[in-house]
Amino acid sequence: MNVTVFGTGYVGLVTGTCLAEMGNAVVCVDVDANKIARLNGGDIPIYEPGLEELVRSNHAAGRLAFTIDPAPAIAHGDVIFIAVGTPPDEDGSADLTHVLAVARTIGRNLGAASVIVNKSTVPVGTADRVREAISAELAERGVTIEFDVVSNPEFLKEGDAVNDCMRPDRIVIGTDSARAIGLLKDLYAPFNRNHERIVLMDVRSAELTKYAANAMLATKISFMNEMANIAERVGADIELVRHGIGSDPRIGYHFIYPGVGYGGSCFPKDVQALDRIATSHGYTARLLRSVEEVNNAQKSKLFVQIERYFDGDLRGRTIAVWGLAFKPNTDDMREAPSRRLLEQLWEAGASVRAYDPEARQEAQHIFGNRDDLTLCEQPYDVLDGADALAVVTEWKAFRSPDFKRIRARLARPVIFDGRNIYEPRVVEAAGIAYYGIGRGRSV
Ligand code: NAD
Repeated sequence: MNVTVFGTGYVGLVTGTCLAEMGNAVVCVDVDANKIARLNGGDIPIYEPGLEELVRSNHAAGRLAFTIDPAPAIAHGDVIFIAVGTPPDEDGSADLTHVLAVARTIGRNLGAASVIVNKSTVPVGTADRVREAISAELAERGVTIEFDVVSNPEFLKEGDAVNDCMRPDRIVIGTDSARAIGLLKDLYAPFNRNHERIVLMDVRSAELTKYAANAMLATKISFMNEMANIAERVGADIELVRHGIGSDPRIGYHFIYPGVGYGGSCFPKDVQALDRIATSHGYTARLLRSVEEVNNAQKSKLFVQIERYFDGDLRGRTIAVWGLAFKPNTDDMREAPSRRLLEQLWEAGASVRAYDPEARQEAQHIFGNRDDLTLCEQPYDVLDGADALAVVTEWKAFRSPDFKRIRARLARPVIFDGRNIYEPRVVEAAGIAYYGIGRGRSV
C-alpha cells in the first residue's frame, strides 16, 4: 500500500519504518529540513533500539523516502497518517497547531479519495476539527473529494518503540467508515496475524482511549510514590510492599515501581490535557489533579534528600548523577526528573558531574556549556571529587556496579537511589551510606 506519514519524530518515524518493513511504500514528511536531510543521509536523529538498521535497510530498498515537500507526498498516499507533536499549551491543554496545519496542507493538496489517520494524541473532538480544516481548504479550491478522518492512537513506548510497533498489544481504530476500516485492516494485517488485536470503536472513544491509558499508568506511578512516602515515614520497605501487592493478579507487578516521578513527552502532558478536557466539559477531575500533584512533589524527592543530608547547605558541593534520560533506552529528556534535580542543585550552589549512556548530546543541547555541569563519557568518571552519587535513570549498566570502586572514587561515600535498583545492605556492606525511595529510612 502507498502510505504517507506527517511527522518524523518518535511516533512517525517508527510507524513509517515498520510499515515500510512490511513491504509498503512509505513517504515521510517533516517541516524540519535538517531532520529530513539527516534521514536522507542515513543519520537517525533519535535513539531508539533497532530503529537505525531498519531505517537504513528500508531506505536503501526504496520503500522509505523522506521529504519536506508535502504535495507529492499527499498524492502518493492511499492512507495519510498525522503523527506530529501535540505539546502542552500555556494552560496545559493540547496544542493542536501542528495537527491542524497538517490538515490544511492535506486539504490544499488532496487530489483523490483518501483516508486520513490521526496518530497524534489529541483531545476528544479533534477528528471533527481535522475534517473541518480539510473541508474548508477543499471548498476554497472548489473541489469535492471524498475522505475519511480516523483516530488510531499510538501506544508505543519510547525505548521499545520498534518492538511495540511490530507487536502491538492492540490496534485501536476509531471510525464509522466501512471503507476506512477495510483499508486499515489490510494495512495492519501483518501486525495482526497470530491473534486479533484490532479494537474497533467510534472516533471519540478512540481519542479518549489514549488519554485513559496514559492517565491510568501515571496514576499507578503516583499511587506507588504515595505509598513509598508513607513507607518511609512508618519504617516499612516499599520494595517488600511492592512484591506483596503485585502478587495479587488484580493488581499485578507491572508499573508499580516507586521512584522520582514520571517524565517524558507523554504522561505529564496527557494527564494535564485530560484534566483540561474534563474541565472544559464541566467536570473537575480530582483524581487526575492529585496524580499530577504527587508527581510534581516526587520530582523534587532526590534533591530534598540530598539537601537534608548536607544539612541544608550544598554550596560548593559536587553531586554525581547517573542517568539523564527520562527512562532507560532513550535519549529523550523531555520533562525528565533529572532536569528538575539538576536545576535544584545548581540553584543551591552545587555542581553536577553527570553520565548517561545515550542522552549526553541531548543534555549538551538543553543546558549548553556551563561551569557547574560536566558531562562525562564514562560512568565512573562522574565520581571523581563528587560528594554523593544520585541515580536518576535505571539504565541496565547501572544495576550491578562495582561498589568498592564507587566508594574509592567518591569524596563522601553516599548513594541516593532514585529508582530503588540497589539492595541497601549490599551498598552499606561496601561502606557506602544508602538512601532509596520509601525504604524505611529517611535522611
Ligand atoms: P516528536 O516531537 O518527536 O515529533 C514530531 C515531529 O512532527 C517533529 O519532527 C516535527 O518537526 C514534525 N512536525 C511538526 N509540524 C509538522 C508539519 N506541519 N508537517 C510535518 N511535520 C511536522 O513527537 P512524537 O514523540 O513522535 O509524538 C507525536 C505525537 O504522538 C504526539 O501527539 C504524542 O503525544 C503522541 N505519542 C507519542 C508517543 C511517544 O512515546 N513519543 C507515544 C504515543 C503517542
